[in-house]
Amino acid sequence: MRIAVDIDGVLFPWDDVARGALQFTFGTHTRASGHWHALKEAVDTREWRWLWTRAGQDMVFGADHAYGNAVAAVRELLAMGNEVHFVTHRDPRLTLHHTAAFLSRHFGDGPAWAGVHSIKSRTPKRALGPWDLMIEDKPDTVFDVVAQENTMVFAPLRPWNRAELEGADGPYLRTYTDPADIVEWVEHAKWRA
Ligand SMILES: [Mg+2]
Repeated sequence: MRIAVDIDGVLFPWDDVARGALQFTFGTHTRASGHWHALKEAVDTREWRWLWTRAGQDMVFGADHAYGNAVAAVRELLAMGNEVHFVTHRDPRLTLHHTAAFLSRHFGDGPAWAGVHSIKSRTPKRALGPWDLMIEDKPDTVFDVVAQENTMVFAPLRPWNRAELEGADGPYLRTYTDPADIVEWVEHAKWRA
């Protein structure tokens, strides 16, 4: 199976880490994002802009944090022999070395992944398809891909997407709290094929 795995919000707790970096740098305390643009709305323009500077990106994407259960599930997908690509909307100019270090840390001792695609957000992730399966937390991307009706999308329920994604499951969308559900679905799909 050709699988696209998002990184931020799926494997890496971007919201927690970004809020921590803002608190460390500016002393700004924020709550976990309750919707997609919550953090941008909670901080002032200077703080938000800093987050996307080289210093901000280094502090955030250099952080050694991960959702352990999601990493374990993707390691299983790799071990099963799937064609796994990491597809992220991180700015390639500033973050490639951090992304490479993150992937090497968590997947470096297992089977090789097929690709890493770090693309500016104006390039839709579906444009790199066709994908058999996508793991993605951003509602806009989830619904964009689901609408193609050719890719199964698994979306983790997180505080910032829950209002949009909870209950939205359908033939091409499964929300999850336990990433082991993805591995189980892939195993069954193999039998169906
Ligand atoms: Mg994401």
